[in-house]
Amino acid sequence: MRDTALLQLALGLAPPWTVSRSDFDAQAHRFDIQIDFAPGSRFACPVCGAADCPAYDTERKTWRHLNFFQHQAYLTARVPRISCDTCGIKTVSVPWARPDSGFTLLFEALVMTMVSAMPVAAVARIVGEHDTRLWRVMHHYVDQARAHTTAADVTRIAIDETAARRGHNYITLFADIDQARVLFATEGRDANTITAFADDLATHGGDPEAIEDVCIDMSPAFIKGVAENLPNAAITFDKFHAVKIVNDAVDQVRRAEQKGQHLLRGTRYLWLRNPANLSDRQRATLDSLPTRHLKTARAYQIRLAFQDLYQQVGPEQATSFLKRWYFWATHSRLEPVIDAARTIKRHWDGILRWFNSKIANGLMEGVNSLIQAAKAKARGYRSIRNLKTMVYLLAGKLDLRLPA
Ligand SMILES: [Zn+2]
Repeated sequence: MRDTALLQLALGLAPPWTVSRSDFDAQAHRFDIQIDFAPGSRFACPVCGAADCPAYDTERKTWRHLNFFQHQAYLTARVPRISCDTCGIKTVSVPWARPDSGFTLLFEALVMTMVSAMPVAAVARIVGEHDTRLWRVMHHYVDQARAHTTAADVTRIAIDETAARRGHNYITLFADIDQARVLFATEGRDANTITAFADDLATHGGDPEAIEDVCIDMSPAFIKGVAENLPNAAITFDKFHAVKIVNDAVDQVRRAEQKGQHLLRGTRYLWLRNPANLSDRQRATLDSLPTRHLKTARAYQIRLAFQDLYQQVGPEQATSFLKRWYFWATHSRLEPVIDAARTIKRHWDGILRWFNSKIANGLMEGVNSLIQAAKAKARGYRSIRNLKTMVYLLAGKLDLRLPA
């Protein structure tokens, strides 16, 4: 068998395409395969599909293919343009590559597999391509897969923001709680992000009015956005955010008290933890403090009590527990704790809603860790669009339909 025939077989080429020659440059670590078509061949119009169009002229193109051992391999072909009676002059589609891509389908499939497993910058280094070209491939497959995604049965959503680029920008993520997948990611963290989500949901066969439950933090922007765009959704305030509000109050009490109390120096992280999670040293410090006389210790007890809210067995028990807690907190004479209690009071219904919905952003632990992984793999990502694409790729449960 001649080497061109072998290459033709290996590439899976069918008539009219044939391998006409190959050149190997050991010095340059480069293997070039020349593809041609039989003279007089006719082609289908890439737009309307009309068959038997004659070649009008040709254009020389080159594609990066899978490596030949350790050498970079390239396919080069004269690609015919046809003259279609209906559509005019068009470049024909070749079976080994997408229009306008400089990579073959198999090279793209390899790239997509690699970027799911390691940082894009590392993949770029390994394959010897600029990462911008790899991002372009990722955008194509992710956009295409998202276009085929259905959101028809979605009824429960978790909404959360995450910092992009050292906290200067935010993206807001919308996750389908029941299928544990990210449905939508968009820049910003204002009410408009929820309008954009509702639009996107509708384009994927979902219905904003069918959303029954959402989990959000207490950001007024999210509350407003939900009311305006997801009219039938009951809000559950994320319990980790609710606890954080009381936790922050403890920290404020500690900061103020520490000014006159050298005993509290270096105890910041002690008060942010639960007793069961204290290190031996923190435990010893806590035991040595005159806790009965410390405002910080009182605030800490109030925070621990607030967490017990979530141990209540049902909505009624929770309601009376929360009332008792509110009375205690508002009579604590600790300004930050009183403020936190009032914030809790203003969001009472959404906090108690948890006892019916049992949804929290922490439920999405699997999704959250994939988002963190996406941020790591997208490290040095040049645009928010790149970050969103990586989030969809890792956490979107997409069907990428990669060429095999
Ligand atoms: Zn046509």
